[in-house]
Amino acid sequence: MEISTLIGQFLDANVYIVKKGKNCLIIDSGAFLYDMIKAVKGYKVDGILLTHGHFDHSCHCIDYARFFGCKIYASEKIKDTLTDPVAIYSEHGDTIEDFSRFEFIEEDKTIKIGDFEVECYYCPGHSKCCECYIIDGVMFSGDVLFNKGIGRTDLKNSDKKEMLESLKKLEKLNFAEVYSGHGEKSTYDDQMKNIAVFKRFLAR
Ligand SMILES: [Zn+2]
Repeated sequence: MEISTLIGQFLDANVYIVKKGKNCLIIDSGAFLYDMIKAVKGYKVDGILLTHGHFDHSCHCIDYARFFGCKIYASEKIKDTLTDPVAIYSEHGDTIEDFSRFEFIEEDKTIKIGDFEVECYYCPGHSKCCECYIIDGVMFSGDVLFNKGIGRTDLKNSDKKEMLESLKKLEKLNFAEVYSGHGEKSTYDDQMKNIAVFKRFLAR
C-alpha cells in the first residue's frame, strides 16, 4: 500500500490517495479535481471516503464521484452537516445537496470497497459526522486526531463529551500510523501520548 498526499483548496486540508496494485481510494476531497486527476493517473478510483462534512474536506466530493464514476462513503450523519450552511463551514455559504452517489456508513463496521478492507469507526466530537478509517493498519483520522492535537470542539455540532468518548474508542484500536486531516502524520506511540493529554483536558 502506498499513500500520497495532496493539499486542499481551503485551510490546507490533507487529501490522501491510498494505492494498492492498480487501484486506489481517495480520503477526503479538498483538492481541485484537476489536481486529483493528475495524482491518480494510471489507477482506478474505487471510492471516496469522507472523514466528515466540513467544507475544507468535502468541497470537491461530487466532482470526484462524477468524474471517476464511484461512490462516496461517509457517516450517515453527514447529511445534516452538508446541507446546513452554518455547520458545513464553507466560506461562501455553499452546501452539498446531491446524495445520489453517497453510501452511508451506519455504526462501526468493516466495509469492502474493491480490494480494500476499510475499518470504519464513528467518532463524533469535532462534528456529529466524524468517521475514522483504518486501512491495513493505517488510520485516517480527519479532524479527530492530529499530530500533537485534536480537532476543535467549539464549532456547531461539536461536543466535548462526545470527543472524549471518541478518544477512548480510538486508543483501544490497533494501528501503526495516523494520517490526519491537517498537518503531519504521527505514530501509534505519538497518539497514545496525545490522547492521554487530551483525555485529561476534555475531562476538566
Ligand atoms: Zn473539520
